[in-house]
Amino acid sequence: MRKRTLESIEKKLIQKKQQILETIEGELANEIEGVESETITGDIVDEANSSYEHLIYSSLTVKEQEKLSEINEALNRLNEGIFGRCVVCGKPIDEKRLRAIPEAKMCIACKAKQERRKN
Ligand SMILES: [Zn+2]
Repeated sequence: MRKRTLESIEKKLIQKKQQILETIEGELANEIEGVESETITGDIVDEANSSYEHLIYSSLTVKEQEKLSEINEALNRLNEGIFGRCVVCGKPIDEKRLRAIPEAKMCIACKAKQERRKN
């Protein structure tokens, strides 16, 4: 995958992450006083140490938490240079799929198999 493609995917992932966090932050902002909002810029999922981060994280719905950790995992894979590979079969994930769902960690075939198991 080209560097420019990866960069635009990374931007998308960060945007998605911020969208989730901003929603929560907006809801909490009215309730919390005297807390620096800068403290949430860190990696919330991996470092939910401070009470404020913990508060934000715990007010996420399960779906939002899942989404956030998927996004963080994808960002980690980007940093490690292994982004775009299916975590199940190791084959490259279709670039079109990654543009649509940048946090996708499975190729379409493996995803379909997983869905079938669920139902
Ligand atoms: Zn696969």
